[in-house]
Amino acid sequence: MTQVGVNGYGTIGKRVADAVTAQPDMELAGVAKTRPNFEAETATRKGYPLYAAVPERADQFGEAGLDIAGEVDELVAAADVIVDCTPSGIGAENRSLYREHDTPAIFQGGEDADVADVSFNARANYENAVGADSARVVSCNTTGLSRILAPLDETYGVEKARVTLVRRGGDPGQTGRGPIDDILPDPVTIPSHHGPDVNTIFPDLNIDTLGMKVPATLMHTHSVNVTLESDATAAAVRDLFADETRLFQIPADADIDGAGKLKEFAHDAGRPRGDLWENCIWSESITVEERDLYLFQAIHQESDVVPENIDAVRALTGTADAAESMATTADAMGVGI
Ligand code: NAD
Repeated sequence: MTQVGVNGYGTIGKRVADAVTAQPDMELAGVAKTRPNFEAETATRKGYPLYAAVPERADQFGEAGLDIAGEVDELVAAADVIVDCTPSGIGAENRSLYREHDTPAIFQGGEDADVADVSFNARANYENAVGADSARVVSCNTTGLSRILAPLDETYGVEKARVTLVRRGGDPGQTGRGPIDDILPDPVTIPSHHGPDVNTIFPDLNIDTLGMKVPATLMHTHSVNVTLESDATAAAVRDLFADETRLFQIPADADIDGAGKLKEFAHDAGRPRGDLWENCIWSESITVEERDLYLFQAIHQESDVVPENIDAVRALTGTADAAESMATTADAMGVGI
C-alpha cells in the first residue's frame, strides 16, 4: 500500500484525497490544511488524519474543536508520496520540505514547469515520470488538450493545432473572481500560456492557443482546430476517441447543449460533487474538412486532473505501467461514461 499525503486541501486536494481512498493500492496518510474552515471540518468527518500546514496556526484547530494528528512535516515524513495541492506558487516554496524528507512529490499545473523533474499527463507521457523524484500534473486545460492530441498525433500526426480556450472566470467557491459582466481576451497577447504548457508534454508539437475569460463557473470550453498530417474522416476520429476512457463523446440525442446540462447529467449520474473527470466532446461537432479536424469540448476544471494525480503516484513509485494504472484508476473511481 502506497501511503499518500495531500498538502493543501482545497478544490483539487479534497478530490485527490477522496480518489486516493478509493484506490486498492493506496492509503491516505493524511491531509494538511492551513486553517480550520469547513473543508477541515469535513475532512475530519470523513476520518482523514488532519495536519496543520502552518505550525504557528496549529492551535487554531483545537480552538475550533478539530483534533489534529500533527504538523505538516510529520505528514511529509510518514508519506511515500506527497501530492501538493496548494495555490499556485506555494508548491515551489514547499519543495525544500519534501526534499528534506526525501519524499517524492507531485505538484499541480499552477506551478512553473521547472518545479518538478517532469510535466505529466497519463495518456501522453506516463513513462517519463517512472522513478522520477517529482512530477507536475499539468493544468486542467493542458490535461484536456493532451488527452485528445496524444491519440491524434499517434494515429494521424499533428501538423498544427489551433485552440481557443473560453475559460470560466472562477470556480464556484471562488467568490472573489470575475468577470461578472464582461468577455475578456485573457491574456490579450498570443499565444496564451496554454500552448507552451502543452509543449511541456509534447515538445515538438506545433500549437497556438488563444485564451478568453467569461462570467461562468462551471467548466471551460475549447474550440479546437487540428490540421492533421494524414487524411481522416469524422467517423474515424469518433472511433479513435471511443477507445479512450477519459474522452466522453456527448451523443446528439442526449440533448446536452452546454456546461449547465453536463453538470446536471453528472449530478443525476451520482458523480461525487458533480465531477466530470473526462473531456466532454460534442460528438456532432467533430468535423473533418480535408485534413482539418474541428471540435468543441468542455473541461471540468475542478476534477479532470484528479485521475492524473492518482496515475502520477503510481508512476513515481514505479508500481504500475500506464495502461495498468489508468485502468485501476478508472475502476476505482468510476472514470468513463
Ligand atoms: P484552492 O485555493 O481551492 O486550494 C488550495 C488549498 O491550499 C486551500 O485550502 C488553501 O487554504 C491551502 N493552502 C494555502 N497555503 C498553503 C500552505 N502553505 N500549505 C498547505 N496548504 C495551503 O486551490 P486549487 O484550485 O485546489 O488549486 C491548487 C493547485 O491546482 C494550483 O496549482 C492550481 O493552479 C491547480 N489547479 C487548479 C484547478 C482549478 O480549476 N481549481 C484545476 C487544475 C489545476
